[in-house]
Amino acid sequence: RNPELETIKTDTDVEDAAIRPARLEDFVGQDKLKDNLRVFIEAAKGRGDALDHVLFFGPPGLGKTTLAQIVARELGVGFRATSGPVIARAGDLAAILTNLEPHDVLFIDEIHRLNTHVEEVLYPAMEDRKLDLVIGEGPAARSVQIDLPPFTLIGATTRSGMISNPLRDRFGIPLRLEFYEAKDLCRIVARTAGILNMNLADDGAMEIARRSRGTPRIAGRLTRRVRDFAHVSGAGRIDAKAADAALQRLDVDAQGLDGMDRRYLTCIADNYGGGPVGVDTLAAALSDQRDVIEDVIEPYLMQQGFVQRTPRGRMLAEKGYAYLGLTPKKPLQV
Ligand code: ADP
Repeated sequence: RNPELETIKTDTDVEDAAIRPARLEDFVGQDKLKDNLRVFIEAAKGRGDALDHVLFFGPPGLGKTTLAQIVARELGVGFRATSGPVIARAGDLAAILTNLEPHDVLFIDEIHRLNTHVEEVLYPAMEDRKLDLVIGEGPAARSVQIDLPPFTLIGATTRSGMISNPLRDRFGIPLRLEFYEAKDLCRIVARTAGILNMNLADDGAMEIARRSRGTPRIAGRLTRRVRDFAHVSGAGRIDAKAADAALQRLDVDAQGLDGMDRRYLTCIADNYGGGPVGVDTLAAALSDQRDVIEDVIEPYLMQQGFVQRTPRGRMLAEKGYAYLGLTPKKPLQV
């Protein structure tokens, strides 16, 4: 497992149960995705059928797990959750699949990390609701086929490019999650503050939202930390100024970038003259895992235009130079 991605996850999961939206109407943002999902859910319910298999992809913390739970609740079916690296052997998957109730949702997080043996068991299960198993070994081995109840597989992955084509092709409903706009994050922050009984002014909520890297999980974490600072400093109502003071102490700068972001940008500028530099080289220079760089750090910096991906590697973009207070040394080429 990827320890850093795990920390990012568990660190903020403390008060999660109360804060996690339970229904589609409480899930803020991702409007197009929600509209489509609502139609598919209604149609499946109307037909009395299991919903087609769904693949959610997008950076960590944007709400893939939350949406999977919401889909099960809206369908009125059971929810079982596991993750790619946990299912080590084909038999593990067989045990999970044969224990499903009809129409259940099976959620597999990090589905790109399933090993190939397990993936091959999954194909006929997804397509024909059949489980092909080999029982016994050597000459006595025989294969049996088991019928499965209708079920919905919901897979989640940080990048759709990481899952194999045959697996991707078996999802009837692929849905991409985008970074959230500040106005949506502001609603999420205000909602979280309400649940936590925080006295947060509108401009305080906006300040946190603006600086949350477009990510609800980060917005939730920063909201709780701002609450801690306000509590300790005895501040009553948390306005933009109080939020800003807390965020600065949390090492989140005015543009919402954190220490990891700054190390990354500075490394490209100082060590590689602004790039282009390959991601493996960067990972080594930063002593970070390549996965963390590609899944956690880069998507937001690229979406915001601080860096760009070129065939020859990562390059600082104009906004990246401006952020570091540098002037580009050479003309930018894409
Ligand atoms: P992912 O599975 O994509 O990594 P999660 O579903 O675990 O993300 O969401 C991370 C956190 O953000 C959870 O605490 C969840 O409550 C919150 N969250 C995510 N999306 C939303 C949203 N649209 N509205 C409100 N809270 C959200």
